Amino acid sequence: ILQVEHLQKNYGAHKVLRDISFNINQGEIMTIIGPSGGGKSTMLRCINLLEDPTGGKILFHGNNILDPKFDLNIYRSKVGMVFQQFNLFNNKNVLQNCMIGQEMVLGRSKDEAKETALKNLKKVGMESFVDAKPSQLSGGQQQRVAIARAISMDPEVLLFDEPTSALDPEMVGEVLNTMSALAKTGLTMAIVTHEMGFARDISDQVLFMSDGVITEQGTPDQIFNHPQEEKTQKFLRNFR
Ligand code: ATP
Ligand code: MG
Repeated sequence: ILQVEHLQKNYGAHKVLRDISFNINQGEIMTIIGPSGGGKSTMLRCINLLEDPTGGKILFHGNNILDPKFDLNIYRSKVGMVFQQFNLFNNKNVLQNCMIGQEMVLGRSKDEAKETALKNLKKVGMESFVDAKPSQLSGGQQQRVAIARAISMDPEVLLFDEPTSALDPEMVGEVLNTMSALAKTGLTMAIVTHEMGFARDISDQVLFMSDGVITEQGTPDQIFNHPQEEKTQKFLRNFR
């Protein structure tokens, strides 16, 4: 569904992504792990076009989205993102947060947007908080609303950038459980995370990124039980 070929991103002379290539197939769960500053967020932001890649290709269903002729509006609505800091609208309630994108971007009617939002809030266990403002919710609850909002856009691919890193430890589990349930629905997901146990359990493939390259990639068994590269081994030792 998504093929990244020789992706590069420079900030001035700083080469943040040097040469990144991988495939994600439909329904696959890919996790991205690696040390701070390795370029994980930049890579997701390039895929989501929050950043303009310096070079390379991003193919969505075989079409290069960086081609000037490609219709980016469709692409943007098919690829969603969940951020570390939730990014909910604080002046809108939970239900409105999950409806607004559907109405503005997808042109859905109020009724349709509401029905979809309620269905997805139920999926993440937040249906009884429809009238609450984000500030009245715990971090874990806010992140579950952010996930409901993202899936209400019916994305084909959902990107997550450290979705549990801003949470108090006791709230991490509820968000990871929500994501695991989502993974079982067949949604294609790419997840940057520092939760190694979760990555091991949920992934079809794991990328280990450092210094702007994919140092190692493979199945969870290959990466977590038999890492070949010294950088991967060293990184994982810190999590034991
Ligand atoms: P972390 O685990 O800390 O989130 P990361 O792997 O997500 O790290 P990035 O945030 O992608 O890493 O950053 C990679 C490098 O790119 C860092 O050296 C960072 O300083 C640099 N960088 C990121 N965004 C910008 C920017 N807008 N302008 C200049 N440099 C940037
Ligand atoms: Mg990051």
